[in-house]
Amino acid sequence: MTKGKVANQSQGTMLLEEKMKITVSEIEDEGLRVSFNEPIEGNSLARPMGDVKAEFFLTRKASELNISGSISGRVCLQCSRCLIEFQRDLELSVDLTYLPIEEMSTEEIHEIGRDESEIGYYKDDEIDITDVVKEQLLLNLPMKPLCSDECKGLCPVCGTDLNLQSCNCKKDEIDPRLSILKKLLSSRKEN
Ligand SMILES: [Zn+2]
Ligand SMILES: [Zn+2]
Repeated sequence: MTKGKVANQSQGTMLLEEKMKITVSEIEDEGLRVSFNEPIEGNSLARPMGDVKAEFFLTRKASELNISGSISGRVCLQCSRCLIEFQRDLELSVDLTYLPIEEMSTEEIHEIGRDESEIGYYKDDEIDITDVVKEQLLLNLPMKPLCSDECKGLCPVCGTDLNLQSCNCKKDEIDPRLSILKKLLSSRKEN
């Protein structure tokens, strides 16, 4: 798939620039190439910085829509160890299937055997590319973001950022929840 510019300069593509909603039944057999380059709203876990880019190729078999391509953007995340905010460039490739929600009963949706994260639903014959980009970007965030692999985190006793300075807290004085775990582990060793 070509990177960068919109490959399909047909009328359809022009319309997409104004409105990133696509009528699924109008996707032709040869597929539809879509370029997205816009800011995306974040959530409490991540704030995208600047524009998020996506290059998608949409194909349709009857009412089953497939979206493949890539998404890239810079997001602001919070380190799960030291809690500072840092920026990270994310780049992901997607291969998604969308089905019309109207044609399914709730049971059927649960019965679908495929990996559920790869299946989405569209409504009223319309797919909103902005929603797809946002959903995928936020779904693919690291579970435990780290500002660096070597991040030392915060001291569990005094809260000092151990990346910036050290503290004099005793090493044994760890989080009570952790000390239970430690006891369990040491009793295991004795057995
Ligand atoms: Zn950190
Ligand atoms: Zn400390």
